[in-house]
Amino acid sequence: MLKNIFTYLPLTLLLCSCSKPQPTTYNYRLFTFGTEVTTSIYTDDKDLADAGFEAIKTRFNTLNKQLHPWTPGELHSLNVACSKLKTIKISPFLQMMIKEGQHFHTMSEGLFDPAVGSLVKLWKFDNAANIHTSIPESSEIEKIQINRPSITQVKIKNDTATCINDLVRLDFGGFAKGYATEEAIGILEKMGMHDAIVNAGGDLTAIGSKGDTPWNIGIRNPFADGAIASIKTSVKTNIFTSGNYERFFEKDGKTFHHIIDPKTGYPSTETASVTVIHESGMLADAAATAIMIAGSNRWKEIAQKMGINKVMLVTSDKKIFITTQMDSLVTILDDELSKVIEDL
Ligand code: ADP
Ligand code: MG
Repeated sequence: MLKNIFTYLPLTLLLCSCSKPQPTTYNYRLFTFGTEVTTSIYTDDKDLADAGFEAIKTRFNTLNKQLHPWTPGELHSLNVACSKLKTIKISPFLQMMIKEGQHFHTMSEGLFDPAVGSLVKLWKFDNAANIHTSIPESSEIEKIQINRPSITQVKIKNDTATCINDLVRLDFGGFAKGYATEEAIGILEKMGMHDAIVNAGGDLTAIGSKGDTPWNIGIRNPFADGAIASIKTSVKTNIFTSGNYERFFEKDGKTFHHIIDPKTGYPSTETASVTVIHESGMLADAAATAIMIAGSNRWKEIAQKMGINKVMLVTSDKKIFITTQMDSLVTILDDELSKVIEDL
């Protein structure tokens, strides 16, 4: 009997060690904020990863509802109040978003302006499923631009907001994902997960690594399928890319996309994509949008004003402008592009 126990013990131990789960990457998808959000979690605990994703899903659905400019929710109510110049009570969270938006507006010399909602709607970039294919009448653009709405025209007092221009429609599409991916990573960390990426259509926050292997993040190529560059990370990193390929239409050989120059009322031209890395997801997101509009002439000036030193700008004629700090992190995968490295 005793002999039998010792004969089977090593086999039992072997079976036990075999069944211990090995860490692996669990991937999840969710459609929200008008884009596909992927969450990758590296762990040996599948149940924990599943619970982490469920928590992110719940939070993202709440945020999407609260921050949607055009469907019922808190931001929509504020937009309706703006159209009537009425004062409305708003949550501390919305107050924070408006104040951050005003701050980024000042930092970017007005290139970043979440009050572009009326223009976004006129150009029909407000609905991913229903992109317009014609340019609005210039008289319609003029009607908005003559009394140009700005986020500086939203006044916050106590717990209320009042718009002083009835054309103000707030659209936080330019920096909401910066807030959301960082918060999502915070949720995972609190639950005990320290190796993950939350990626909202190319705007992402990453933490940790896959064991000894860093995460390898691809930056989308604006000219072809696949990646134009890759970035390896093993510490917390926010990587945000704005591009002319997310929402756009082509007319008379020109591309019209969803990032609008608030000063002209037309989509910015000349820049294909901008990637920014910064410790703040919201600032990285806002800066990528603002630098798209700044273009190759003003990108350094606006980056400096926004306190950004890790930037890569790809022009429509296939040049890459990249800061020294960014260049040390990025591997360019397309040899055809000429690269200009600049100090900031
Ligand atoms: P994506 O959402 O594709 O990652 P961005 O972060 O650049 O790209 O955000 C683009 C969105 O920001 C637009 O769809 C619109 O909602 C909003 N937007 C457009 N122009 C501006 C602007 N000048 N300032 C702030 N937000 C803008
Ligand atoms: Mg942005």
